[in-house]
Amino acid sequence: ADKSAVTNVVILGAGVIGLTIAHVLSSDSPDAYNIKIIARDMPEDLASQAFASPWAGANWSPMRGFDEKQQRRERDTFNKLWDMIPTGLVMPLPSRVFYGDNDDLEQLWYKTLVRDFRVLESVEVPEGAKAGVSFTTVSLNPEVYLPWLKEELLSRGVQFIRKKVHSLGEVVALAGLGGVVVNATGLGARSLIGVEDQDVYPIRGQTVIVQAPSVKEFISFPMGEPSTNGEVTYMIPRPSPPGQVLLGGTYQPGNWDLSVDFPTAKGIIARCSALAPALRSPERRILSHNVGLRPARKGGARVEAEWRRLPLETEWLSAQDGAEPQEGEVLVAHAYGFGPAGFQNSWGAAAEVMSLIKANLNKTA
Ligand code: FAD
Repeated sequence: ADKSAVTNVVILGAGVIGLTIAHVLSSDSPDAYNIKIIARDMPEDLASQAFASPWAGANWSPMRGFDEKQQRRERDTFNKLWDMIPTGLVMPLPSRVFYGDNDDLEQLWYKTLVRDFRVLESVEVPEGAKAGVSFTTVSLNPEVYLPWLKEELLSRGVQFIRKKVHSLGEVVALAGLGGVVVNATGLGARSLIGVEDQDVYPIRGQTVIVQAPSVKEFISFPMGEPSTNGEVTYMIPRPSPPGQVLLGGTYQPGNWDLSVDFPTAKGIIARCSALAPALRSPERRILSHNVGLRPARKGGARVEAEWRRLPLETEWLSAQDGAEPQEGEVLVAHAYGFGPAGFQNSWGAAAEVMSLIKANLNKTA
């Protein structure tokens, strides 16, 4: 490979977003990028509440609404995940989503994308909801999927460096002049010096993971309209290990509490059992109680690139005593703030980040 054509890319963050960006870049052109991932929490840190990715459901089930960019990301991601079904990492998931109103469900933007889409008859809608749709989507288990992504990247020569970074400037030095920094720090974007995005906030999600092999369906009731105390009701069966189902949950904006609240857990199990009576059977076992923080952002996810002039002074680059810190122009691509939908945006968002990088570096596709 022509060494001069190699671009150094430093990806800050090893959640699903940072990992997927690395995957897309290294698939596109194995020799074009020299990729390092720097993160405080790594894909194998599945018990760390300091990042969101281990705690997701994770299924593909979009909100209503018409943010075109998000729809494109979600469409691209659905297609990619559907194609991954034969790997066993992703499974097809029959779904029923109920709503508190019956506004034009025939017009849902994704109705031709998912499989078997249909608006439910009123007799099929349980008490407490006004309307519903059924369709087949996909789900995956982050505890399997994240380590798989890391293995893929290691086999492609991507380097992983565990480190808590305090400022953008610290990683800029590692990328070097002409290099690219990708900011995929999730909630970390709020306090990372040089970004300090005060629009970033957490949405607390408490869940219970159970063993319940006869629950085969994603059910959400009703979706998108959490009651005032942030209670929502959904269940997501996962491909592996077989029989695992994630029960949710809560949707609590601005709440940073990482501890498990047991009355809340009881409520989750009771509400889910009312929808799926199989959860009351003796075969159902509780495997874990969990809390994760969805990394949200007012105004939606930030996916954009900017040239930044930053000081290249850090412990990475031994500054000479008394010398003025060097400065340099560096391309910074941001990809954070995906809130409740990081997995279902991941492949689309990663493709978008790659186009932004190429456009800014004047690389041809
Ligand atoms: P994160 O996973 O938070 O990763 C951030 C990374 O940046 C970590 O590696 C962290 O260590 C690193 N980092 C941050 N700051 C620094 C720093 N200063 N120095 C070094 N490293 C740093 N999404 C779906 O699509 N479908 C679902 O069904 C779904 N269900 C969910 C259920 C729950 C209960 C929760 C909590 C979330 C759910 N989500 C779901 C949302 C999804 O989990 C997130 O949107 C996604 O994980 C965000 O990924 P990320 O890579 O942006 O951030």
